[in-house]
Amino acid sequence: MADLKGQVALVTGASRGIGSVIAQYLGEAGVNVGVNYVASEDAASRVVDAVTKAGAEAVLVPADVSQEAEAKAAVKQVVDRWGRIDILVNNAGITRDRLLLRMSAEDWDRVLDVDLRGAFLCTKYVMPHLIRRRQGRVVNISSVVGIGGNPGQANYAAAKAGLIGFTKAVAREVASRNVTVNALAPGFIDTGGMVDTMSEEARQNVLGRIPMGRFGSGSDVAQAVVFLCGEGAGYITGQVLIIDGGLIA
Ligand code: NAP
Repeated sequence: MADLKGQVALVTGASRGIGSVIAQYLGEAGVNVGVNYVASEDAASRVVDAVTKAGAEAVLVPADVSQEAEAKAAVKQVVDRWGRIDILVNNAGITRDRLLLRMSAEDWDRVLDVDLRGAFLCTKYVMPHLIRRRQGRVVNISSVVGIGGNPGQANYAAAKAGLIGFTKAVAREVASRNVTVNALAPGFIDTGGMVDTMSEEARQNVLGRIPMGRFGSGSDVAQAVVFLCGEGAGYITGQVLIIDGGLIA
Protein backbone atom coordinates (compact mmCIF):
# COMPACT_ATOMS: atom_id res chain seq x y z
CA MET A 1 0.00 0.00 0.00
CA ALA A 2 3.00 2.29 0.42
CA ASP A 3 2.80 3.28 -3.24
CA LEU A 4 -0.34 5.34 -2.51
CA LYS A 5 1.21 7.50 0.21
CA GLY A 6 0.78 11.22 -0.49
CA GLN A 7 -1.71 10.71 -3.30
CA VAL A 8 -5.01 12.59 -3.33
CA ALA A 9 -8.51 11.19 -3.84
CA LEU A 10 -12.03 12.52 -4.21
CA VAL A 11 -14.59 10.00 -2.98
CA THR A 12 -18.16 10.96 -3.84
CA GLY A 13 -20.90 9.99 -1.41
CA ALA A 14 -18.36 9.35 1.34
CA SER A 15 -20.49 10.39 4.33
CA ARG A 16 -22.16 7.01 4.80
CA GLY A 17 -22.15 3.39 3.76
CA ILE A 18 -19.63 2.03 1.29
CA GLY A 19 -18.16 5.43 0.42
CA SER A 20 -17.27 6.16 4.05
CA VAL A 21 -15.39 2.85 4.28
CA ILE A 22 -13.59 3.53 0.98
CA ALA A 23 -12.47 6.92 2.33
CA GLN A 24 -11.14 5.30 5.51
CA TYR A 25 -9.26 2.56 3.65
CA LEU A 26 -7.69 5.12 1.32
CA GLY A 27 -6.71 7.15 4.38
CA GLU A 28 -5.08 4.09 5.93
CA ALA A 29 -3.12 3.69 2.68
CA GLY A 30 -1.80 7.24 3.14
CA VAL A 31 -4.09 8.93 0.64
CA ASN A 32 -5.44 12.41 1.41
CA VAL A 33 -9.19 12.35 0.84
CA GLY A 34 -11.86 14.81 -0.23
CA VAL A 35 -14.97 13.51 1.56
CA ASN A 36 -17.95 14.43 -0.59
CA TYR A 37 -21.53 14.45 0.67
CA VAL A 38 -24.75 16.26 -0.23
CA ALA A 39 -26.70 16.44 3.05
CA SER A 40 -25.07 14.51 5.92
CA GLU A 41 -22.48 17.00 7.13
CA ASP A 42 -22.12 15.53 10.63
CA ALA A 43 -21.59 12.03 9.28
CA ALA A 44 -19.12 13.33 6.72
CA SER A 45 -17.23 15.16 9.50
CA ARG A 46 -16.85 11.85 11.35
CA VAL A 47 -15.35 10.33 8.19
CA VAL A 48 -12.90 13.25 7.97
CA ASP A 49 -11.92 12.52 11.59
CA ALA A 50 -11.46 8.81 10.84
CA VAL A 51 -9.21 9.50 7.84
CA THR A 52 -7.21 11.97 9.91
CA LYS A 53 -6.81 9.42 12.72
CA ALA A 54 -5.56 6.96 10.10
CA GLY A 55 -2.70 9.38 9.45
CA ALA A 56 -3.75 11.08 6.24
CA GLU A 57 -5.43 14.44 5.63
CA ALA A 58 -9.10 14.90 4.77
CA VAL A 59 -11.45 17.71 3.94
CA LEU A 60 -15.25 18.06 3.69
CA VAL A 61 -16.41 18.51 0.10
CA PRO A 62 -20.11 19.41 0.02
CA ALA A 63 -21.61 19.06 -3.47
CA ASP A 64 -24.56 17.60 -5.30
CA VAL A 65 -22.64 15.69 -7.96
CA SER A 66 -25.55 15.86 -10.39
CA GLN A 67 -25.17 19.66 -10.62
CA GLU A 68 -22.43 20.63 -13.04
CA ALA A 69 -21.28 23.74 -11.19
CA GLU A 70 -21.12 21.85 -7.88
CA ALA A 71 -19.22 18.87 -9.34
CA LYS A 72 -16.75 21.26 -10.95
CA ALA A 73 -16.32 23.19 -7.69
CA ALA A 74 -15.80 19.96 -5.73
CA VAL A 75 -12.89 18.96 -7.96
CA LYS A 76 -11.45 22.47 -7.77
CA GLN A 77 -11.68 22.44 -3.98
CA VAL A 78 -9.63 19.24 -3.78
CA VAL A 79 -7.02 20.42 -6.29
CA ASP A 80 -6.72 23.80 -4.56
CA ARG A 81 -6.26 22.07 -1.19
CA TRP A 82 -3.51 19.63 -2.15
CA GLY A 83 -2.29 20.88 -5.52
CA ARG A 84 -3.07 17.59 -7.25
CA ILE A 85 -5.58 14.79 -7.64
CA ASP A 86 -4.74 11.18 -8.43
CA ILE A 87 -7.86 9.15 -7.67
CA LEU A 88 -11.60 9.61 -8.27
CA VAL A 89 -14.07 7.17 -6.77
CA ASN A 90 -17.55 7.73 -8.22
CA ASN A 91 -19.54 6.17 -5.39
CA ALA A 92 -22.47 8.58 -4.80
CA GLY A 93 -25.70 6.83 -5.59
CA ILE A 94 -29.40 6.75 -4.80
CA THR A 95 -32.32 4.44 -5.47
CA ARG A 96 -35.97 5.30 -6.14
CA ASP A 97 -37.49 1.86 -6.56
CA ARG A 98 -40.87 1.38 -8.28
CA LEU A 99 -42.18 -1.14 -10.75
CA LEU A 100 -41.97 0.29 -14.26
CA LEU A 101 -45.68 1.03 -14.61
CA ARG A 102 -45.60 3.09 -11.41
CA MET A 103 -42.25 4.76 -11.98
CA SER A 104 -42.54 8.50 -12.55
CA ALA A 105 -40.32 10.34 -14.97
CA GLU A 106 -38.97 12.22 -11.92
CA ASP A 107 -37.92 8.94 -10.27
CA TRP A 108 -36.21 7.94 -13.51
CA ASP A 109 -34.45 11.27 -13.99
CA ARG A 110 -33.22 11.70 -10.41
CA VAL A 111 -31.56 8.27 -10.26
CA LEU A 112 -29.96 8.73 -13.67
CA ASP A 113 -28.88 12.26 -12.67
CA VAL A 114 -27.09 11.25 -9.46
CA ASP A 115 -25.83 7.77 -10.34
CA LEU A 116 -24.76 8.34 -13.95
CA ARG A 117 -24.63 12.06 -14.76
CA GLY A 118 -22.85 12.71 -11.46
CA ALA A 119 -20.12 10.22 -12.37
CA PHE A 120 -19.81 11.77 -15.83
CA LEU A 121 -19.46 15.29 -14.42
CA CYS A 122 -16.90 14.40 -11.74
CA THR A 123 -14.85 12.36 -14.21
CA LYS A 124 -14.97 15.14 -16.79
CA TYR A 125 -13.54 17.67 -14.35
CA VAL A 126 -10.98 15.33 -12.73
CA MET A 127 -9.65 13.86 -15.96
CA PRO A 128 -7.59 16.86 -17.21
CA HIS A 129 -5.55 16.69 -13.98
CA LEU A 130 -4.90 12.95 -14.38
CA ILE A 131 -3.98 13.26 -18.06
CA ARG A 132 -1.63 16.15 -17.41
CA ARG A 133 0.37 14.14 -14.86
CA ARG A 134 0.16 10.91 -16.89
CA GLN A 135 -1.10 9.15 -13.77
CA GLY A 136 -4.49 8.42 -12.32
CA ARG A 137 -7.21 6.06 -11.33
CA VAL A 138 -10.98 6.29 -11.70
CA VAL A 139 -13.10 3.68 -9.93
CA ASN A 140 -16.84 3.69 -10.63
CA ILE A 141 -19.14 1.93 -8.18
CA SER A 142 -21.70 0.14 -10.34
CA SER A 143 -23.79 -2.82 -9.15
CA VAL A 144 -24.66 -6.39 -10.06
CA VAL A 145 -28.09 -4.88 -10.78
CA GLY A 146 -26.46 -3.12 -13.76
CA ILE A 147 -25.46 -6.54 -15.09
CA GLY A 148 -28.44 -8.73 -14.25
CA GLY A 149 -31.29 -6.24 -13.72
CA ASN A 150 -33.74 -6.33 -10.82
CA PRO A 151 -37.52 -5.88 -10.75
CA GLY A 152 -38.50 -2.49 -9.38
CA GLN A 153 -35.14 -0.96 -10.27
CA ALA A 154 -35.36 -0.12 -13.99
CA ASN A 155 -33.94 3.36 -13.34
CA TYR A 156 -31.12 2.11 -11.08
CA ALA A 157 -30.28 -0.83 -13.39
CA ALA A 158 -30.11 1.52 -16.37
CA ALA A 159 -27.87 3.95 -14.48
CA LYS A 160 -25.55 1.20 -13.23
CA ALA A 161 -25.39 -0.50 -16.67
CA GLY A 162 -24.72 2.93 -18.15
CA LEU A 163 -21.86 3.38 -15.71
CA ILE A 164 -20.28 0.18 -17.05
CA GLY A 165 -20.48 1.43 -20.65
CA PHE A 166 -19.11 4.79 -19.51
CA THR A 167 -16.23 3.03 -17.75
CA LYS A 168 -15.23 1.10 -20.86
CA ALA A 169 -15.48 4.07 -23.22
CA VAL A 170 -13.47 6.40 -21.00
CA ALA A 171 -10.92 3.66 -20.25
CA ARG A 172 -10.23 3.41 -23.98
CA GLU A 173 -9.98 7.20 -24.32
CA VAL A 174 -7.35 7.68 -21.62
CA ALA A 175 -5.40 4.40 -21.58
CA SER A 176 -2.50 5.88 -23.52
CA ARG A 177 -2.11 8.52 -20.79
CA ASN A 178 -1.51 5.91 -18.09
CA VAL A 179 -4.91 6.55 -16.51
CA THR A 180 -7.02 3.51 -15.65
CA VAL A 181 -10.81 3.48 -15.39
CA ASN A 182 -12.54 0.49 -13.84
CA ALA A 183 -15.88 -0.38 -12.30
CA LEU A 184 -16.82 -2.43 -9.28
CA ALA A 185 -20.13 -4.28 -9.24
CA PRO A 186 -21.05 -5.08 -5.64
CA GLY A 187 -23.85 -7.46 -4.75
CA PHE A 188 -25.63 -7.15 -1.39
CA ILE A 189 -23.40 -5.04 0.85
CA ASP A 190 -24.48 -4.66 4.47
CA THR A 191 -23.50 -1.16 5.52
CA GLY A 192 -26.56 -0.29 7.55
CA GLY A 193 -28.66 0.73 4.54
CA MET A 194 -30.88 -1.38 2.33
CA VAL A 195 -29.87 -4.77 3.74
CA ASP A 196 -30.63 -3.54 7.28
CA THR A 197 -34.21 -2.63 6.42
CA MET A 198 -35.07 -6.05 4.91
CA SER A 199 -37.49 -8.34 6.73
CA GLU A 200 -35.92 -11.43 8.30
CA GLU A 201 -37.63 -13.53 5.62
CA ALA A 202 -36.17 -11.41 2.80
CA ARG A 203 -32.71 -11.55 4.42
CA GLN A 204 -32.82 -15.34 4.61
CA ASN A 205 -34.08 -15.54 1.04
CA VAL A 206 -31.18 -13.41 -0.24
CA LEU A 207 -28.60 -15.20 1.91
CA GLY A 208 -29.79 -18.49 0.43
CA ARG A 209 -28.87 -17.18 -3.04
CA ILE A 210 -25.36 -16.06 -2.07
CA PRO A 211 -22.93 -19.00 -2.42
CA MET A 212 -20.65 -17.55 0.28
CA GLY A 213 -23.63 -17.43 2.66
CA ARG A 214 -23.04 -13.87 3.91
CA PHE A 215 -23.66 -10.29 2.87
CA GLY A 216 -20.69 -8.27 1.71
CA SER A 217 -19.13 -5.60 3.91
CA GLY A 218 -17.92 -2.11 3.11
CA SER A 219 -14.37 -3.35 3.47
CA ASP A 220 -14.94 -6.05 0.83
CA VAL A 221 -15.55 -3.20 -1.62
CA ALA A 222 -13.01 -0.74 -0.18
CA GLN A 223 -10.13 -3.22 -0.39
CA ALA A 224 -10.86 -3.71 -4.11
CA VAL A 225 -10.76 0.07 -4.57
CA VAL A 226 -7.37 0.25 -2.85
CA PHE A 227 -6.10 -2.60 -5.05
CA LEU A 228 -7.29 -0.91 -8.26
CA CYS A 229 -5.64 2.35 -7.17
CA GLY A 230 -2.31 0.66 -6.47
CA GLU A 231 0.75 0.24 -8.66
CA GLY A 232 -0.01 -3.47 -9.02
CA ALA A 233 -3.23 -2.75 -10.93
CA GLY A 234 -1.56 -0.44 -13.44
CA TYR A 235 -2.31 -2.70 -16.44
CA ILE A 236 -5.97 -3.28 -15.54
CA THR A 237 -8.42 -0.94 -17.26
CA GLY A 238 -11.95 -0.99 -18.64
CA GLN A 239 -12.86 -3.88 -16.35
CA VAL A 240 -15.82 -4.68 -14.12
CA LEU A 241 -14.91 -6.48 -10.91
CA ILE A 242 -17.91 -8.24 -9.37
CA ILE A 243 -17.89 -8.36 -5.56
CA ASP A 244 -20.92 -10.44 -4.65
CA GLY A 245 -19.87 -13.62 -2.84
CA GLY A 246 -20.67 -15.60 -5.97
CA LEU A 247 -24.27 -14.33 -6.31
CA ILE A 248 -24.29 -14.03 -10.11
CA ALA A 249 -21.45 -16.46 -10.82
P1 NAP B 1 -25.77 5.01 1.04
O1 NAP B 1 -25.41 4.40 2.33
O2 NAP B 1 -27.20 5.30 0.75
O3 NAP B 1 -24.91 6.35 0.86
C1 NAP B 1 -25.10 7.12 -0.29
C2 NAP B 1 -24.04 8.20 -0.32
O4 NAP B 1 -24.22 8.97 -1.54
C3 NAP B 1 -24.15 9.17 0.85
O5 NAP B 1 -22.86 9.57 1.21
C4 NAP B 1 -24.91 10.34 0.22
O6 NAP B 1 -24.62 11.59 0.84
C5 NAP B 1 -24.34 10.33 -1.17
N1 NAP B 1 -25.17 11.05 -2.13
C6 NAP B 1 -26.48 10.82 -2.43
N2 NAP B 1 -26.89 11.70 -3.37
C7 NAP B 1 -25.81 12.50 -3.66
C8 NAP B 1 -25.60 13.59 -4.52
N3 NAP B 1 -26.58 14.06 -5.31
N4 NAP B 1 -24.38 14.17 -4.54
C9 NAP B 1 -23.39 13.72 -3.74
N5 NAP B 1 -23.52 12.68 -2.90
C10 NAP B 1 -24.73 12.09 -2.86
O7 NAP B 1 -25.27 4.11 -0.20
P2 NAP B 1 -24.44 2.73 -0.22
O8 NAP B 1 -25.39 1.62 0.00
O9 NAP B 1 -23.21 2.84 0.61
O10 NAP B 1 -24.03 2.70 -1.76
C11 NAP B 1 -22.89 3.39 -2.24
C12 NAP B 1 -22.73 3.08 -3.72
O11 NAP B 1 -22.62 1.68 -3.91
C13 NAP B 1 -23.93 3.52 -4.54
O12 NAP B 1 -23.50 3.98 -5.80
C14 NAP B 1 -24.72 2.25 -4.70
O13 NAP B 1 -25.52 2.26 -5.84
C15 NAP B 1 -23.60 1.23 -4.80
N6 NAP B 1 -24.00 -0.13 -4.41
C16 NAP B 1 -24.47 -0.40 -3.14
C17 NAP B 1 -24.83 -1.69 -2.82
C18 NAP B 1 -25.32 -2.06 -1.44
O14 NAP B 1 -25.73 -3.21 -1.24
N7 NAP B 1 -25.29 -1.16 -0.48
C19 NAP B 1 -24.72 -2.70 -3.78
C20 NAP B 1 -24.25 -2.40 -5.05
C21 NAP B 1 -23.88 -1.10 -5.36
P3 NAP B 1 -25.55 12.17 2.05
O15 NAP B 1 -25.25 11.26 3.23
O16 NAP B 1 -25.06 13.55 2.25
O17 NAP B 1 -26.96 12.04 1.59
